[in-house]
Amino acid sequence: MTTVIHADRLIDGTGAAAIKDAVLVIEAGLIGDVFEGRLPEGRVPEGTETIDLRGCTVLPGLIDTHVHLNMPGDGSMLEVVVRETDGVLVATSTLSARRALDAGITTVRDVGGARRTVFDARRALELGHGPGARILACGQPITITGGHTWYFGGEADGEEGLRIKVREMCKLGADFIKVMASGGGTVNTMSWLPSYSPRELAALVDEAHRQGRKITAHCLCAESTNWVVDAGFDGIEHGGFIVNKAGHQKYEPATADKVARAGIPVTSTLAVGGFTLKAMRAIEHRTPAEQHVLDRWLRMSDENFTQFRRMREAGVTWVAGTDAGWRFTTIEGLPLEFELMQQGGFSALEAITAGTGLAARVLGIEDKVGTLKPGLAADVIAVAGDPLDDLSRLGDIRMVMQGGHIRKRVS
Ligand SMILES: [Zn+2]
Repeated sequence: MTTVIHADRLIDGTGAAAIKDAVLVIEAGLIGDVFEGRLPEGRVPEGTETIDLRGCTVLPGLIDTHVHLNMPGDGSMLEVVVRETDGVLVATSTLSARRALDAGITTVRDVGGARRTVFDARRALELGHGPGARILACGQPITITGGHTWYFGGEADGEEGLRIKVREMCKLGADFIKVMASGGGTVNTMSWLPSYSPRELAALVDEAHRQGRKITAHCLCAESTNWVVDAGFDGIEHGGFIVNKAGHQKYEPATADKVARAGIPVTSTLAVGGFTLKAMRAIEHRTPAEQHVLDRWLRMSDENFTQFRRMREAGVTWVAGTDAGWRFTTIEGLPLEFELMQQGGFSALEAITAGTGLAARVLGIEDKVGTLKPGLAADVIAVAGDPLDDLSRLGDIRMVMQGGHIRKRVS
């Protein structure tokens, strides 16, 4: 089975400049060759299916490196979502994966859900019971007793307890391991303090790597980041600098330098602030509590942008992740994340690369998806117009192809 796609331009996800008047050949569900201008005579058999995407830009399926499929992203608090049964959470997860795919996000990395619900959702999709984004899952985020997202079932303490928990996640089918190295948005956790000791973090890394898994850590304060880098983690989520209960941040250049020198990628998750501000501004008559949320996020978003820019200048690698599901952050939110990254100093092409080719490298799946290199799975999307001119074009999806199968087509 061969398909030929014609489009105004093609962005291949490697960071290379767009190719104009592109012709993309798909063969047996895999990316074939890319040509500029026109297809060479005799390259494909007579009567090959042709998809005309003139007026559109073709690019690799997008990858969101930080989502929570359990959560609907409609403003619900984690504390409310986790009251539902596991059956509901599995259903919500498959629906989230479906919504992501419809939005051109063909792969997601789920960084934490309840018990085995995300593994079960992943399994149903693998069985072909419906369309959805490819899911990489960690299962339960590993957290101290009473720590961030403890409701998911990931509590474990002490070096031995942590090794057992890592093995348990691998037994259930974890593609990677996620650790809460500081508190977070969970009620009564302390985002301004590290959670695990350096020795516990070292045990986590050792065990994850023995099991052949990458390990990433949620870090909202500088000390948690310092310790995670020393322990040899493969990734950092958020990379915040919170110093107190009010959520004030204080940028630490030495921490940024440390992350940059170690070459550990950090997920951006700027969309959390973007979506919260949007939701709060949309309320005509805000309650004092809502006004407080708005004021807090106005300040936090400002600080987040400044830190994003300064860390980038220090040489930190930012990879695109939204924290979809968390509060108001929708599963379709990656284009907004790209726009916010652009406001933080990225070019449009760099932002797209951070959510395609670079994201695949960070996840260790660059030999399967993420770019339009020959031999990779044909996860290809088309959007109307030129997203390099205007990243919001990525919200105008005209085609979604996953593994060579057309999942969506809008003419
Ligand atoms: Zn998260």
